[in-house]
Amino acid sequence: MRKSRKITIKKSKKTKIRHRRSMVSRKTGTIPISVFDNVMKQFDAAAKKLQIDQSVLEFIKMPRRSTIVNLPVRMDDGTYQMFRAYRVQHSIARGPAKGGIRYHPDVTLDEIQALASWMTWKCAVVNIPFGGGKGGVICDPHEMSEGELERLTRRYVADMIDLFGPDDDVPAPDVGTGPQIMAWFMDTFAMRENRSVPAVVTGKPIKMGGSRGRVEATGRGVMICTREAAKHLKLNLKSATAAVQGFGNVGSVSAKLLHELGVKFTHVSDEYGAIFNAKGIDIEGLVKHREKTKSIVKFPGCKRVKRESVLFAKVDILIPAALENQITEINAGQVRCRILAEGANGPVTPEADKILKKNKVFVIPDILCNAGGVTVSYFEWVQNKIGYFWTEEEVNRRLEEKMVPAFEDVLKVSLENKTQLRIGAFMLAISRVMEVVKLRGIYS
Ligand code: GLU
Repeated sequence: MRKSRKITIKKSKKTKIRHRRSMVSRKTGTIPISVFDNVMKQFDAAAKKLQIDQSVLEFIKMPRRSTIVNLPVRMDDGTYQMFRAYRVQHSIARGPAKGGIRYHPDVTLDEIQALASWMTWKCAVVNIPFGGGKGGVICDPHEMSEGELERLTRRYVADMIDLFGPDDDVPAPDVGTGPQIMAWFMDTFAMRENRSVPAVVTGKPIKMGGSRGRVEATGRGVMICTREAAKHLKLNLKSATAAVQGFGNVGSVSAKLLHELGVKFTHVSDEYGAIFNAKGIDIEGLVKHREKTKSIVKFPGCKRVKRESVLFAKVDILIPAALENQITEINAGQVRCRILAEGANGPVTPEADKILKKNKVFVIPDILCNAGGVTVSYFEWVQNKIGYFWTEEEVNRRLEEKMVPAFEDVLKVSLENKTQLRIGAFMLAISRVMEVVKLRGIYS
């Protein structure tokens, strides 16, 4: 008789909901910051300037549906571990819910609801026919094997299969996930449907229906917005300096493309440390170094500096491209850049925004600045639906055609209302969602 395998279910350390990132700083204090509260404040500040029925505002502000599941995953040592996972659909007013899936130890429902909400406003700012959604799993992908990540991803899809579909909810990569995870996502969905369904997820590998230019799209969008902001402020990029916090996909591509326009990067950081070179860091070399060593530290020719020094560097352009709540009321006064381009989602808190405004920092808000990623996700979805694929030049050209008018629209609303770009972007996005809600009516 076959010996049955012993099944032990361990409660994962990682399922403990941690709040590290919702604290201002482990060193300086313990002010809890709810990321979802931050979005609410941003929304309210913009909504106040629009003449909209308060009861309808509540409807478009709150997440439509939040799902929590606990996923058992077989680990390589034969044990089972539980992972808590979320999918939030904030809005489907303008189209299917759209937004990435995050794999990170600090994921919380509060954070995923905030990120889903930002997706609604982001898609409306660049005027693509999607609502907003976001998913997350509390796990540390760096500590998991490929097999464990595959089983986790497949179980995530299986346990929430009814939520997903090309016209329902279309996930994509986010922090800790990438094309391979999207490939497993698509395969699991397709196996359950017994047909190929490439448009159920974006950010797939190009060989299986992904779009050319998708991997670089978020960074390319950051470059486009920064370039347009520099034009508006009459800042010459050829003599401009910059710092970037985070050197993952978004940070590294933004830096590479701005470097190609002549910008000199003096400070770069990642989760392991920060480096500095007054003469400018060789970004292409740094990308290769990071691919080889998995970190930017120890890059030859650069001085090691404190990680915080990157945010406070005296540069023309600062790109926070890591996580939320990096610039708060505690440290915003130390920020010395001219343009702050939000590569990450939510790096600046509403309280910090007020300080930056006083100090005349030109903030390009996340829902505009990093919208290049979801814009090319939209192109991928369109290409999957028509079954015909565009060249990289065509994708990049169409991205310019979406991002430049979005930047101009946001700037126009902000100038007309004498507000920061963030409020202008929210005003534009809320108006666009409201127009559709008015046309559709509220079914009750
Ligand atoms: N995760 C990315 C974002 O925050 C991309 C989302 C998507 O392509 O759907 O915008």
